[in-house]
Amino acid sequence: MNIFMIFNIFFVVVSTLFGIVIGSFLNVVIYRIPEGRTIVKGHSMCMSCGHELGALDLVPVFSWLFLGGKCRYCKAPVSSRYIKIESFTGLVFLLYAVTHLKYQLDILDLYKIPGLVVFCYYCITLLVLASLVSAMMIYYDKQRSYYGYSVFTGCAAVVLSALTLAVEKPSSVAAYLLIAVSVSLIGCGITALFSRILRKKYTAADFWLDIPFAFFYAYYGRLSSNYDYAIIAMILLLILPRSILKGTKFDKYSAIVSMCGIVLFNVIGFILNRLSDNLFCSALVF
Ligand SMILES: [Zn+2]
Repeated sequence: MNIFMIFNIFFVVVSTLFGIVIGSFLNVVIYRIPEGRTIVKGHSMCMSCGHELGALDLVPVFSWLFLGGKCRYCKAPVSSRYIKIESFTGLVFLLYAVTHLKYQLDILDLYKIPGLVVFCYYCITLLVLASLVSAMMIYYDKQRSYYGYSVFTGCAAVVLSALTLAVEKPSSVAAYLLIAVSVSLIGCGITALFSRILRKKYTAADFWLDIPFAFFYAYYGRLSSNYDYAIIAMILLLILPRSILKGTKFDKYSAIVSMCGIVLFNVIGFILNRLSDNLFCSALVF
């Protein structure tokens, strides 16, 4: 086992643990945002007895497992959804890390500007993925969505584009951002049109849910280094499931389909790139 192999494993393990911790925070976000409560202040408490939870009760995944899925104080069962969201976010981060091992050499080279740029790019993309997981669960729970997700995804893309300037031509970076905005708006327009053709209502909540997901395919789809593939993925994994499931009893699952679609899209893009052997072409091709 050489040093790069060890770093690869370290990279994947740290990313996964980071995902589990972020997933734990998402549980708070998913519960509090629809209630209009702040996500930065306030203690977590047991839903049954109202007892304030201590540090030992809040260790992601492990607390739930060691306490047997029960509250330490009142022994009321604690829903398994917390551990499911933590594990799911961990899995999303794990797969993202595995499909982005090409960064290892760049990130190791932190003293060079591109190494630091790639590291920031990687972390910000993980945070965007995490925000999509919370948007997915809020839609599952309440069939609601918030424009804040679009603002966050959009701002992240602007920061990422600015970072990309360190290694790419300015004109191509700005053009790419503009193309991604247009493509995601067109994607949402087609979803709205399909929904209408199928005689279903397409509301503002649907638009604010679809925009960040469509934008992820359009902007972050650079992984595939093949734009056609990103567009096909967007049609198959976002536009079709969202417009077909709209108005049915399975509507609440449509955001889960789009989120799993993004993960699948990354994994398939990775395999395709592996097969065509151009994975190591460029540091900043997503
Ligand atoms: Zn309790």
